[in-house]
Amino acid sequence: MAYLTLRGINKIYPNGFHAVHDFNLEIEKGEFIVFVGSSGCGKSTTLRMIAGLENISKGEFYIDGVRANEMGPRERGVAMVFQSYALYPHMTVYDNLAFGLTLQGVDDDVIEERVNHTARILGLTDYLERLPRELSGGQRQRVAVGRAIIRKVDIFLMDEPLSNLDAKQRVTMRSEITQLHRETGATTIYVTHDQTEAMTMADRIVVMKDGYIQQVGTPYDLYFNPVNMFVAGFIGEPPMNFVDCKVKNGNLVLSDNQIELRAVAEQDVLDKYEGREIVFGFRPECVHPVIGERVKSGYRVKCFVNLVELLGDNTNVYVNFDGFNSILKVDPHNSPSVGSSFEFAIPYESVYLFDKETEKRIKTKSFE
Ligand code: ADP
Repeated sequence: MAYLTLRGINKIYPNGFHAVHDFNLEIEKGEFIVFVGSSGCGKSTTLRMIAGLENISKGEFYIDGVRANEMGPRERGVAMVFQSYALYPHMTVYDNLAFGLTLQGVDDDVIEERVNHTARILGLTDYLERLPRELSGGQRQRVAVGRAIIRKVDIFLMDEPLSNLDAKQRVTMRSEITQLHRETGATTIYVTHDQTEAMTMADRIVVMKDGYIQQVGTPYDLYFNPVNMFVAGFIGEPPMNFVDCKVKNGNLVLSDNQIELRAVAEQDVLDKYEGREIVFGFRPECVHPVIGERVKSGYRVKCFVNLVELLGDNTNVYVNFDGFNSILKVDPHNSPSVGSSFEFAIPYESVYLFDKETEKRIKTKSFE
């Protein structure tokens, strides 16, 4: 059995709302797991059931092979960091860090050593005598993380810990938390709605929607092998482009552009979808502008340029073709201008196909 096992976990709130459905997950010791999904999809509810702050309506939760459903939060050996830092406003940073240990009756000299050690790891040594209101958002969040790590628990639970920080602080704290995880080796479950945080921090990501797990996998898996349209659209920025089409004689039929499916799909797939609607997907960053005739194997699409956003390292080009809007990410030196027509190529191996009805991925030749 894995270190943490969630088996058929469900949460039905007292008002009857079914917030989490049949959640199954095995977490190995030391893993950094991220729950990601839009607001309201059940991430916090699941985390709170793991913490022991919400009861589990149905299913079983094991910590290190021992059933933990009925254990209180303290017994579970978890430390939790919340979105609101939950610091004591009238206590100094030192006292905020020391508080939990003082309650446990730990000796003063041990407390002092652990506070100093924690402050050093988190760069808070110069701020120990300050009150929370005399700190920046990032420093307050570090104190909140410090209060969790000072307890030397085996499991960290973090609920949107960076959402009150500005964009720059978020990037800094993101790498600090990842580094801290590497140093402490504590099993960590981290909740966020931000796919960039999930992609950059996780060993494995759990994508959730409407209380259901959609996919569990490494960032690489989820990006390159999404199982359905939700995961494909959620992971990646800007999101994957989706184009609705009908399959006719093995071709995807658009008005001006014909897409011959044989290059990407096997005959049995073509037969199965003949006459049906499917969704053609490609990521903004996979396209190449067609300059002259130099194009690798792939589909060529002619489009009209509606808007161009120069971001520095790349340019987002908003285009329209055959009545569909898409975003292309191109090299700023090869960027087309607004109002022009433009031809781009989509390599065959970058094409994703989805069943329009079930939204599930259809097997293609590059499907792993
Ligand atoms: P997330 O963390 O993904 O934003 P939550 O786990 O907080 O989502 O909430 C999942 C769903 O459960 C939401 O629709 C939310 O409104 C609902 N919910 C959360 N807490 C309660 C509660 N105490 N009673 C009833 N419904 C709740």
